Amino acid sequence: MMRQRFGGRVQKLSIDAAMVCPNRDARGGRGGCTFCLNEAFSPSYCRGVKSLCEQIDEGLRFHLSRGRSADYYVAYLQAGTNTNASVDRLRKLYAEVLDHPRISGLIIGTRPDAVSSEKLDMLADFSTKKYVAVEYGVESTSDATLSHVNRGHSFDDARWAIGATRERGIDVGAHFILGLPNERPEQLIEQTDKINELDINYIKFHQLQIFRSTPMAEEWALHPERFMFGAEGFSASSYVDLLVAILRRLAPTISLDRLFALAPRHLTLHSPLGGLRPDILKNMLVSRMLSGGFVQGDLYNY
Ligand code: SF4
Repeated sequence: MMRQRFGGRVQKLSIDAAMVCPNRDARGGRGGCTFCLNEAFSPSYCRGVKSLCEQIDEGLRFHLSRGRSADYYVAYLQAGTNTNASVDRLRKLYAEVLDHPRISGLIIGTRPDAVSSEKLDMLADFSTKKYVAVEYGVESTSDATLSHVNRGHSFDDARWAIGATRERGIDVGAHFILGLPNERPEQLIEQTDKINELDINYIKFHQLQIFRSTPMAEEWALHPERFMFGAEGFSASSYVDLLVAILRRLAPTISLDRLFALAPRHLTLHSPLGGLRPDILKNMLVSRMLSGGFVQGDLYNY
């Protein structure tokens, strides 16, 4: 999607504004999502007390030193809740990023309950000058699941935030975790119909990963039967089958941004896909789709 939009090779540069998540905030948060280990999402060049511009410069050097040159660089505020501050503070932060001469756009990761009409209006202003997208952690369409993992928002919150963002002409991505407690493959396939009703430009799925020292690690130890990835017979191959079923039902207009995750091994307590690398899983998926003659959306309900 990004290549089409920009007309060239695009490289995302992760940066970290160290913005507190309202769900984890010691002053009034609700303790955080039970799966949360925020450090799993920040590359090393983001850590510390560097300014956003310093992080961008370091990220550019990091990618260039690995031979990853691109035509366009898009800054990515991934870790934390990057709309959780006053409009004035956010405006300064986003301007710092978007004024950088090598940066062509900004993707802002956040929670559906951490945006407001005022904040979205401000983003719409920026989006008239450079590319802006908002990426919402939706995680599940089931309110029972969202409540179980202490997410602190409902699916309706996600519906509102996505609609209000798209109304202003801003691109939207949505993130879903597959395999949260008590969710089963049939339910995850069925939720695709609700996802199709959201006006999103792109989607990220990834398998549940259980991180050390999280409340979910405790739940996993006490109740492995709640996790579909704990079930006997559920394997990398079953996950690929699940993705095939979801993709066949997913609207063909939604771009796929990500389908697998691989967090650092030292942080992960349980890696349900046997630690297989995303590229190997992707090859399995592509070959399953091709051999079945399937394409994204061939079962989409028009
Ligand atoms: S919203 Fe994100 S940062 Fe906040 S507690 Fe949940 S996973 Fe962690």
